[in-house]
Amino acid sequence: MVHNIQLFLFFVVFLNYLQAEEIWFVKFSYKHNYLSRIEKTFPLIDLLQYDYDQSSCIFLVPQNYLLNFARFIQQHNGFYRIMLDNTKDTLKKFQLRSKRWTPSDNPLDKTFYQHFLSYDEQQNWYSLLANSSLTKKFIRLHTIGYTYENRSLTVVQIHSKYRRRYKQQQQRRKLSVFIDGGMHAREWLSIGVANFVLIQFLTLKENNLKVQRILRHFDIFVLSMMNPDGYEYSRTHNRLWRKNRSPTIVSDYWDIDESCCGVDLNRNFPYQWDSIYGSSNHPCSHSYRGSHPSSESEVQSVVNFLQTNTYSRNKFYAYFNLHAYGRFWLLPWTYSTLNKVQNYEDLLKRCNQIASNVMNQTYKVGQASFLLYPCSGTSIDFAATLMPHSMTLELSPTFKGLPMCFETNQTVDHNCTVGFLAGPEVIEIDGTEVFNAIVEYLDSIIQDYFLSRNT
Ligand SMILES: [Zn+2]
Repeated sequence: MVHNIQLFLFFVVFLNYLQAEEIWFVKFSYKHNYLSRIEKTFPLIDLLQYDYDQSSCIFLVPQNYLLNFARFIQQHNGFYRIMLDNTKDTLKKFQLRSKRWTPSDNPLDKTFYQHFLSYDEQQNWYSLLANSSLTKKFIRLHTIGYTYENRSLTVVQIHSKYRRRYKQQQQRRKLSVFIDGGMHAREWLSIGVANFVLIQFLTLKENNLKVQRILRHFDIFVLSMMNPDGYEYSRTHNRLWRKNRSPTIVSDYWDIDESCCGVDLNRNFPYQWDSIYGSSNHPCSHSYRGSHPSSESEVQSVVNFLQTNTYSRNKFYAYFNLHAYGRFWLLPWTYSTLNKVQNYEDLLKRCNQIASNVMNQTYKVGQASFLLYPCSGTSIDFAATLMPHSMTLELSPTFKGLPMCFETNQTVDHNCTVGFLAGPEVIEIDGTEVFNAIVEYLDSIIQDYFLSRNT
């Protein structure tokens, strides 16, 4: 009993410290991977941006770390500057930034991708897709599971009228492609871009030869909003929220401080779960891996969906996992810097080619554990055990040469862009780039592997 009271008091004191946070730009004087040491010493720190080449990071630093973290940086010959203090209050203005809008009757209209839709608006849009004469013949909706707060995980399947003809001619099943967005709550752009990609496939299915060829070979499945509980929380409470909203082992206390609630979905997948640093066992960490593999209903639903083929009957062949931000095209493995997936050279060549053709060579392509940092329990590592083409696209709020606002400390200057806070006007710019990349990628697979046998 005494022990429990002490534990409770410890948490009250400890968690109250976390109420105020600051965003720091940190640069070390020479290249070295400090991240694992920082993570061990400061488990509740939140890494917002990492640039290995520049040896610089942007961190969300809890109040009670400020002194010791500054000391750590000095001891390692680095420097830091505060980019934003009192972060939560400052960022409140970015919550609920989507304005009131009147949706169109046409589900392919730009009103649906020029806004960050709320969960309810997204569900209404799905209903419109399923009922509109423009789209209902070409899509199916699948509810693959429910979140802790009982929101549905809705996958849109795009299929084509060419299916039967293709099957009769080729005597061969189509393959499936999975695209997801919104795994991390604060990465709103990835949800908008997933919706944009879906709209583009449906818009161009009648008059774009590459899209038609892709839909002859593949059914496309899009889960735009993988973490709707976390996303809604980031809209209404904390713009920089990353995890889902399920209770953790210290959930009795999470109403004192929010950080101790939720699991990082991209550390909870069952392959190589908890096998390396970069995946925290601390329930209050922003990269908490969960109590066991697939402990989260969002993850278990996607795992079942990809493994069982219940909805597609066709095998999954490619997976595009959308995050924001960084302009990285990340390949498995994430958990290891020593091993490579079997077809790594093919993936690397293909992605580099497409990045230079349709992305202005502005995406860095490479193994996730090298380009970013090693971590385990990720969705692309799990998917790579099931299918040959599995990758993450870290989208970009930087475009047309504009600097990141965090770098210039101009958080509301319209001459810069703001990382997670990028506005909905970026959706179409990034969406076009990502849609073109996915189309080129799938078409290149068809050319290389299917076209000699099939047409
Ligand atoms: Zn992410």
